[in-house]
Amino acid sequence: MHFIETRGNDGQHPQKVSFSEAILAPISSFGGLYSPESLPDLVTAFLTTHLNSDYKTLARAVLTAFEIDIDTNIIDQALSLYDAFDDPSNPVPVVKVSDHLYVSELWHGPTRAFKDMALQPFGTVLSSIAQKRGEHYLILAATSGDTGPAALETFKNKESVQVACMYPVGGTSDVQRLQMVTEDAKNLKVIGVKGDFDDTQNALKQLLASKEFKDTLKEKNIHLSAANSVNFGRIIFQIIYHIHSYLELARQKAIEVGEKVYLNVPSGNFGNALGGYYAMKMGLPVEKILIASNKNNILTELINTGAYDLRNADVVATTSPAMDILKSSNIERIFFDLFGSERTKELMLKLDKDKHYQLSEIELASIQSIFAADFCDDTEGKQYIKEAFSNGYLMDPHTATCFKAYDTCRDNKSLKTIVYSTAEWTKFSPVIANALTGEQDTHDIDALKSIAKEAGIEIPAIINSLFDKEIAQKAIVEKDGIEKEILSFL
Ligand SMILES: *Cc1c(COP(=O)(O)O)cnc(C)c1O
Repeated sequence: MHFIETRGNDGQHPQKVSFSEAILAPISSFGGLYSPESLPDLVTAFLTTHLNSDYKTLARAVLTAFEIDIDTNIIDQALSLYDAFDDPSNPVPVVKVSDHLYVSELWHGPTRAFKDMALQPFGTVLSSIAQKRGEHYLILAATSGDTGPAALETFKNKESVQVACMYPVGGTSDVQRLQMVTEDAKNLKVIGVKGDFDDTQNALKQLLASKEFKDTLKEKNIHLSAANSVNFGRIIFQIIYHIHSYLELARQKAIEVGEKVYLNVPSGNFGNALGGYYAMKMGLPVEKILIASNKNNILTELINTGAYDLRNADVVATTSPAMDILKSSNIERIFFDLFGSERTKELMLKLDKDKHYQLSEIELASIQSIFAADFCDDTEGKQYIKEAFSNGYLMDPHTATCFKAYDTCRDNKSLKTIVYSTAEWTKFSPVIANALTGEQDTHDIDALKSIAKEAGIEIPAIINSLFDKEIAQKAIVEKDGIEKEILSFL
């Protein structure tokens, strides 16, 4: 299987690359992305064959169908990381919440958010490619919360890879910060930056443009790579759990194999939804993919009107911060798949230049045949959290955005819906405690205790122990201090 370019070829980049090349350098001609040249076909026979497969067996079969250039033993090693999830035999439990609504919980891994689903195996794959090539990689990440902990966790003590992760001081939850600053490994560096997430990201951009930084990398023979959500090495692992969740519904006798379902995805950079789209294209019986947003509702606008407009658009901070995104990068792969590279290039370059574009009516109809969308503001989100809790289901604010789309976006109410839950309640506890009891906690530890009491459950040990762990990563710098800090780490 090869990967081709979403914006066509500029004569300088290769026209096609292998999976491992697409992982190491995910950006293609004209700033585009690599996308699969074709998708494997999972006919009904595949689904019935795997009706009783465990997660790893299914994953191996899907990855095999993609014919990627990664050795089987590396794939097995990567997939074995799911053994460290809460239930090794079923890393992604699917829970029935009401008659037609099932929640697929993607957060049972080490950092309690869905980023682990892809980043856990991805770390092994990237490190093995680097070792095989005898190369050394530096991964730079600016995080507002969930990606940082998941990236640090997966690359901890891995060969041939170093990670430097920057977070805005005060811009993450206590749990997210502790997950990062308590990571102690020689190949990891965590830096708190005084400023907000935008400042952190801009500082990272400046660093990438710095000559001294580039010279140092060259001198030390270090290559730069990214573990961000456009990397196909992450996307591929996000196709699998959609198929798994569907089969889980069949195993629970909620559906017959072949029956259509809705997938309902809390979306930011659109990696999760893209995985669902590919699964659907590969033959998974999906009626539509429901895209849930928060008040940063650029995707809702796009899917409902065909307009993508960043003029006068500012990111607003919400209680579902992992979805506080206006530039949703993976949409580009959907356009490429539906409209081809020429049109995708036109749309994406127009967005860069004019900050907006408008799909044609035919294009919009084609998008709407696959997706429907709605957004959920923080007040509505809290109500959904409270209501679900009174029906016995505890969920986080990202997951809650899906419940609005569930109410408003289904044309066929007789079909089952799979809502994807992307974070455990422990990661956004002050918001949840506020929704449940009205209390205003500023510290996670107080909110965690109060939710645990309210729900009659324990705070998971993996979260509780964070508060007693030693702080291994103490660096806190001004924006212009990042370069020095990273150079000394290298
Ligand atoms: C990253 C993230 C999302 C958004 O997922 P995308 O694949 O970027 O659309 C939603 N919820 C949580 C908790 C996340 O960490």
